[in-house]
Amino acid sequence: FLTDKTSKICVLGHRGLVGSAIVRKLQHLGFTNLLLRTHCELDLTRQNDVESFFAAEKPRFVILAAAKVGGIHANSNYPADFIAINLQIQTNVIDSSYRHGVQKLLFLGSSCIYPKLAPQPIPEDALLTSPLEPTNEWYAVAKIAGIKMCQAYRIQYGWDAISAMPTNLYGPNDNFHPENSHVLPALMRRFHEAKVKKAKEVVVWGTGSPLREFLHVDDLADAAIFLMESYSGLGQLNVGSGKEVSIKELAELVKDVVGFEGELVWDPSKPDGTPRKLMDCSNLAELGWSPKISLKDGLADTYKWYLENVKQ
Ligand code: GDP
Repeated sequence: FLTDKTSKICVLGHRGLVGSAIVRKLQHLGFTNLLLRTHCELDLTRQNDVESFFAAEKPRFVILAAAKVGGIHANSNYPADFIAINLQIQTNVIDSSYRHGVQKLLFLGSSCIYPKLAPQPIPEDALLTSPLEPTNEWYAVAKIAGIKMCQAYRIQYGWDAISAMPTNLYGPNDNFHPENSHVLPALMRRFHEAKVKKAKEVVVWGTGSPLREFLHVDDLADAAIFLMESYSGLGQLNVGSGKEVSIKELAELVKDVVGFEGELVWDPSKPDGTPRKLMDCSNLAELGWSPKISLKDGLADTYKWYLENVKQ
């Protein structure tokens, strides 16, 4: 993968958090032949359009980072969209890629494919061992089907399709919506707006005790390229930072990075969610990859991006 910088590489979902980071990384490494399509240019849920695209363009590599994503609120309100759109996108892209001679495909999912009560840290083989978290099972079932489709094509056709499951990601191009986003961008925006308004306090949801793992999306992009180069296994691989922080520690870190000087007020009427969510990434570590961006540096980088893009 890394030896020919002129290979045609198709990154789908290149405007999102993950896809945009992968494009930045590939460009940084000197890849010159990236094949990118916006949603308007190519609707991945339309089988005929996807088929024609692959027939005409014949990329050598495909990274599938396009998906219908969202938090608990969106998942609960649009279950049909989450299951149907994700199944359509991945089925069309994986099958067309195989049939039009793509050499290798990377399919990206998330840690919510694992059972609600999976052991912590969550190993890859916890997949399909017990029931999913009900609020996001629509998305999770679609992503599990994508992993299984990659495995099935490898078994039946010997085709090189791999899957990676990242932990909670953050970074440039994240969703900073005040209610619908995940905790890290939500807090960054809330502290920033409080600083600008010179507010005395900021409300943070829950008790602050849950533990979460965060990975900067540039580290994920680095891992994705590492896997394109050096992994051709049947199973999905977890990609995480291996470091847990409590929501309280996270809130203090974000507060410092943003430079808000007021108080934190906890709102225990809001749900804490699962007490702990950590991925077991020992398989990836054994292959020789480890994350490089500390949470502190990653937060500073993300806040810089936020300041430059807050008006849009
Ligand atoms: P989860 O990892 O799937 O639970 O997703 P979230 O990122 O939405 O929430 C993680 C934790 O952060 C939960 O314990 C939330 O209660 C807590 N939290 C604190 N403040 C916020 C906030 O403003 N937004 C969100 N989404 N979560 C918050």
